[in-house]
Amino acid sequence: MTDFYPTLLELIIKASTELPEDVTTALKSQLAQEENGSTAASVLETLLENIRLANERQLPLCQDTGTIHFFVTAPDDFPRRRFKADAERAVVEATRRGLLRQNCVESVTGHNTGNNLGYVNPTFHWEEADDNAIPKVTVLLKGGGSENVGIQYSLPDEPLHAGRDLDGVKKCILDAVYRAQGKGCAPGILGVCIGGDRAGSAEEAKRQLLRRIGERSNDSALANLEQEVLAKANALGIGPMGLGGKTTLLDVFVGTRTRHPASYFVTVCYNCWCMRRQTLEMI
Ligand code: SF4
Repeated sequence: MTDFYPTLLELIIKASTELPEDVTTALKSQLAQEENGSTAASVLETLLENIRLANERQLPLCQDTGTIHFFVTAPDDFPRRRFKADAERAVVEATRRGLLRQNCVESVTGHNTGNNLGYVNPTFHWEEADDNAIPKVTVLLKGGGSENVGIQYSLPDEPLHAGRDLDGVKKCILDAVYRAQGKGCAPGILGVCIGGDRAGSAEEAKRQLLRRIGERSNDSALANLEQEVLAKANALGIGPMGLGGKTTLLDVFVGTRTRHPASYFVTVCYNCWCMRRQTLEMI
């Protein structure tokens, strides 16, 4: 029987200590856009030095190691129960080693479970693949501060003058960025879902965060929307950590779900610069 534990432990440690190369490259390229000696440049330099040190010393990239998500794409015969048990064991060990902070708290009592295990924690997102497909897992460690500035809109939204169309969607996303004002540790990366029910919309928005920086939607209208919102958000002057500058966002990823005719949700899932996702094919 397959033992997923060692591989998953390694994957979690990698996610906690190494930023994906596309995110580091985006931070470097934004640093080149900021004025020499500006606060924005200094914040980005600090982030890049932090990334270098975490990688070199195998330490967590941030003290908040976030909530733990496993996105698994696998054929029907994949041993889900076994995978889940091994993943939970790997989470407990990574927590014991200090690579995951004890971030799982009972909601009413505030009791910390101490090992990052709890009801639907970590969270598993399953997706079926064709029979012969190679199973694939992505670990996402999602920062809590950035989760706090995520938001869901129900269109039409009168105060925003946002109707049920892509122009309305654009207004919502820019409103979310404006409200955040750099909180949630900008520069941010946005996962957005248009449609779905409330829960499905939130799930899809988070799933959009699995895309690589610069990966545009296959739908040309959504790809244009992503580029337009990114440019407009970065023209707001909010900047890294809200201290001013040209780098408020690193990217925007927009997906859709079908919806009930009566509903039109737009969900914005905000991720901080510390985009900890690592993927592995389980051959
Ligand atoms: S929002 Fe992100 S960068 Fe900020 S403290 Fe949380 S994990 Fe760290």
